[in-house]
Amino acid sequence: MPKWKLVTEFSFDSAHYIKDYDGPCGRMHGHTYKVRIEVQASKLSASQYCPHPVMVADFRTLRWAKQDVTKGGLDHCVLNEVMPPEYETTAEMIAQYIYDETKKRLTSDVKLKVAVSETPNSWAEYEDD
Ligand SMILES: [Zn+2]
Repeated sequence: MPKWKLVTEFSFDSAHYIKDYDGPCGRMHGHTYKVRIEVQASKLSASQYCPHPVMVADFRTLRWAKQDVTKGGLDHCVLNEVMPPEYETTAEMIAQYIYDETKKRLTSDVKLKVAVSETPNSWAEYEDD
């Protein structure tokens, strides 16, 4: 079976705090978040921007979160104010939130994986099989 895989990485700068956290992460502070998105598909599709079935997904679509918060992304915001309250702003749940929001923008047969990093040596990865 043919298979394509796309990988894109980007970053955004935002503030957050972990609710009820006993320690410095409970106070408002900022990170340059790094995001790594992987998508796989065995057939190609059209995209929001291209009518021909030539892509797994459009990189512009995958990189929505990099946009300024005033344009629908997550850059330069307080994540606690932008993400719905059912998501805490841990790296785990930011990855889940980006996954859920990205999934809505993709065709249903595309397999998705999202990883988020707050610091250079740590990543949280989320997928839902
Ligand atoms: Zn933090």
